[in-house]
Amino acid sequence: MNKSPDAQRMEKIVSLCKRRGFIFQSSEIYGGLNGAWDYGPLGVELKRNVKNYWWRVMVHERDDVVGMDGAILTHPQVLKASGHVEGFSDPMVDCRTCKARLRADQVIEKKGIRQCPNCGGRDLTEPRPFNLMFQTQMGAAADESSIAYLRPETAQSIFVQFKNILEVSRKKLPFGIAQIGKAFRNEINPRNFTFRSREFEQMELEYFCRPEEGMELLEYWKEERLKFYENIGISRDRLHVKTVPDEERAFYSKGTYDIEYDFPFGRQELEGVAYRTDYDLSQHQKASGKSLEYFDEETKQRFVPHVVEPSAGVDRTVLALICGAYSEDEAPDEKGKMETRIVLRFHPRMAPIKCAVFPLLKNKEPLVSKAQEIVNFLRPHMNVFYDESGAIGRRYRRQDEIGTPFGVTVDFETFGEKDAALRDTVTLRERDSMKQERVPVKDLPGILVSRIS
Ligand code: ATP
Repeated sequence: MNKSPDAQRMEKIVSLCKRRGFIFQSSEIYGGLNGAWDYGPLGVELKRNVKNYWWRVMVHERDDVVGMDGAILTHPQVLKASGHVEGFSDPMVDCRTCKARLRADQVIEKKGIRQCPNCGGRDLTEPRPFNLMFQTQMGAAADESSIAYLRPETAQSIFVQFKNILEVSRKKLPFGIAQIGKAFRNEINPRNFTFRSREFEQMELEYFCRPEEGMELLEYWKEERLKFYENIGISRDRLHVKTVPDEERAFYSKGTYDIEYDFPFGRQELEGVAYRTDYDLSQHQKASGKSLEYFDEETKQRFVPHVVEPSAGVDRTVLALICGAYSEDEAPDEKGKMETRIVLRFHPRMAPIKCAVFPLLKNKEPLVSKAQEIVNFLRPHMNVFYDESGAIGRRYRRQDEIGTPFGVTVDFETFGEKDAALRDTVTLRERDSMKQERVPVKDLPGILVSRIS
């Protein structure tokens, strides 16, 4: 069967991710651990750039948000109060023929008869709830009292620490608490590369407010979050806002948007922005018996704050960046013949390596030492990479393929051999246009920093 262009594109992306060290399957040499991924040297840089930029705009550039970093191991009472122990489950069906475990909504129904999408078998179990939480045991005893969970979202530790953070930060409503960290869900069917994993990272903000501000803040945060994606280079035409209809929304939410992205495997959720009313804090207040109220000094009123939650996935954002950046075009090879060039057109702000530095030839000592001097000169400002091996065209191609936006080449002109005016200048090549300009070495940090930050 011929694969669709989108499926082929996805295959090329997965293979590039492995070949160049963005993402590897976890425990690969033992056959792989389904739903877990390891980020390689370039993937970890990309992921960090996403998280750092999120932190910058959501925490550092605002007066009304503070951060926290909660524990992954979670007290069962927390997740009972939040509703995860009872309710955090997908209905699941087993196919008795091929033994596939399927989400009930994946089962095909033809003329009223249920069929396995895997093998076409009709011998299926009734849907049963399947809890998505990973349970573990803490300490030596192996009984009920030792149960703990790996958190299924970062949000709960924010709610549980609300009072402590309110006191230490001395913030007034509306204000938010932000967190980035790992979350774990025993997804029945991990799929679409890292899109649906069992271990992933979230970037969540809980923005606490007065009840009457909730709906307006929901709109505000939806817009802020769209701006974020645009600012990291995700094209606005590939982003879509879905208004989650009443019947799909959590019963306590008064409004929810899903921010979706056109992945090669379809339009899928990147982030949820939800107005969750006072549900979370009220639940924890009730279950713990501790007041989680806010005292408004102006009105002298005491009440449980409402909350608006933008909740984004780091891994899904990274995947959207890679899918959006992947492109193929034509460029001349060493002999001037056109060849296919693979380019990751990352926004410079997100690119794992910002600038590659090359001596034109590796066997000419002055070129090499000048290039290394430039590497050291740029290093305090950005992640740079030095490469001296192979023809210069090949070196450019290798950087294009991993999305390095700038390349600096030290050549004989740098020493002013033919034209004294060019002394201490280098060529600066831009990845997408492949245009080259001659710039003084001393201006490099200023020029590059202004383009990458
Ligand atoms: P989905 O419907 O795709 O399972 P969800 O609505 O359950 O997602 P939320 O609980 O709203 O997801 O979590 C917030 C964000 O966390 C999601 O928008 C997504 O970016 C990320 N996320 C959730 N589950 C996963 C997963 N299994 N793998 C990777 N990221 C995930």
